[in-house]
This record gives sequence, structure tokens and C-alpha cells, in this order.
Amino acid sequence: MELILLGPPGAGKGTQSKLLETRYGVAQISTGDMLRAEVKSGSAIGLEAKSIMDSGGLVSDALIIRMIGERIARPDCANGFILDGFPRTVPQAEALDELLHTTKVDLDGVIELKVDEAVLVARISGRFTCAKCGAGYHDLFKRPRHEGVCDVCGSGDFSRRPDDKAETVHARLEAYNAQTAPILPYYRAKGRLHSVDGMADMDAVEAQIEAVLRKIGVPAP
Ligand code: ADP
Ligand code: ADP
Ligand code: ZN
Repeated sequence: MELILLGPPGAGKGTQSKLLETRYGVAQISTGDMLRAEVKSGSAIGLEAKSIMDSGGLVSDALIIRMIGERIARPDCANGFILDGFPRTVPQAEALDELLHTTKVDLDGVIELKVDEAVLVARISGRFTCAKCGAGYHDLFKRPRHEGVCDVCGSGDFSRRPDDKAETVHARLEAYNAQTAPILPYYRAKGRLHSVDGMADMDAVEAQIEAVLRKIGVPAP
């Protein structure tokens, strides 16, 4: 299965792609997570990306395209992958087409999570993750089953993204509208775009995605 999950910041791409990763045994590829790992390690890529990420803008296409090329060539992608947060610009979408063409991989489809802007701000403001295993939580919508303890790994160490603060969220939504939304018509024209209602609760969104997967011929695991 080769799938793109598309949507604005806070739409639920990470939440849903992690569920699909577990269910289908394919690799979840989040360019945001990859960049945050580069920042944490203090690498050259991390140094280049950090200030841009902190300001809510987009990192250069060249850097991202190189990163993705290396990532999907790794053995854990042999079974397929879900792209979360990539492509984010039309040049990135074009570069992906070329990459898939040369590696003879066929994209199953692009699923767009549609969520109103007011809800996105609420989702981003309450977001936190387990610092150890990366499991995602929300202050209101998904608290750990036992207060202060990660459901998945039992760690008590949680973190919040610096770019999830109110000032930056606005810039990120603008970047989405100006630079990422134009890839919707790009995939629509190719007959690849499928939209689901991302306003629904997590289980209902998951069920809608499963319905799209059946429709486009991806068998249930
Ligand atoms: P979210 O899913 O909440 O929008 P991400 O974790 O995908 O956030 O991305 C965080 C930041 O990393 C973005 O605001 C941007 O600066 C950078 N980034 C991630 N993916 C890309 C990409 N494909 N192209 C350019 N910048 C990216
Ligand atoms: P993205 O990767 O698109 O930026 P996330 O998957 O990180 O979005 O979700 C943003 C926040 O909203 C997280 O705190 C997550 O727990 C929460 N969330 C995700 N999907 C839903 C949903 N359907 N309903 C309510 N909250 C959600
Ligand atoms: Zn954990």
C-alpha cells in the first residue's frame, strides 16, 4: 500500500497514519518527525531546518525531496508506506511522481482530511506526545488512560512541540493555504484524490479511511 495522507496542521494525519502503520504493516513516513529528529541530533539538516520550522514556514523543497528519496529506498518500505506531511508543495508532488515512476511504484491514492480552521487551532493547542515512544495525545480529546502515564510504553515523560504555540499556528495555517492546498487540484486532476470528514472522532475518521481503501482496491489486512 502506497498512500498519501493530506491535510492542514492538526488535521489528524499523524494519528491516522500511525493507526494504518500498525494495521497494515507499512512504514509511516512523517517528514515533520524526520526533521525534528535532525534538529534534536544537531545535524547540518537540523540546523538548516530549525529556524524555518520555528517560524511556521516550509523547509526547502530540495532538502525535503532528497530526504524522502533516501527514506523510501530503505528496506522497511518494501511493503509500502504512508506519507504524512509530504508532499507539501506542487514541486514536491511532481518530484514524488518522478521518484515513484523511476522506482516503478504505483500510488494507491491520496486521502485528504478536511477539518475547519477553528478546530485545527484547538487540536494543535492541546497536542502533546510521549517523549519516549512518540504516541500522540490531546489535553481534551485523547488523554492517557492513567494520568501522566503513556498508554503505549508506560513512560511519564511527555513533550509539546515549540511550533504548536498560538503565534506560530497562524503562520503554519497560512503556509498550508498558500503552498500546500494547491496540490489538492493536482491530485484531483489525476483522479487520485479522496476526501474524508476529519471533524469526526478518531474512530469514525479511521472507518472512513478504511472505506476509501476498500473502494480503491486495497484489501483489508
Ligand atoms: P503538522 O503535521 O502538524 O503540520 P509536521 O510535523 O508535518 O506538522 O511539520 C512540522 C514542520 O516541519 C512544518 O511546519 C515545516 O516547517 C516542516 N516540514 C515538514 N514537512 C515538510 C515538507 N514536506 N516540506 C517543507 N517543510 C516541511
Ligand atoms: P497532524 O499530524 O495532522 O498535525 P495529529 O494527528 O497530530 O495531526 O492531531 C492533532 C491533535 O489532535 C493531536 O493532539 C491528536 O490527539 C488530536 N486529534 C487527532 N484526530 C482527532 C480527532 N478526530 N478528534 C479529536 N482530536 C483529534
Ligand atoms: Zn510512550
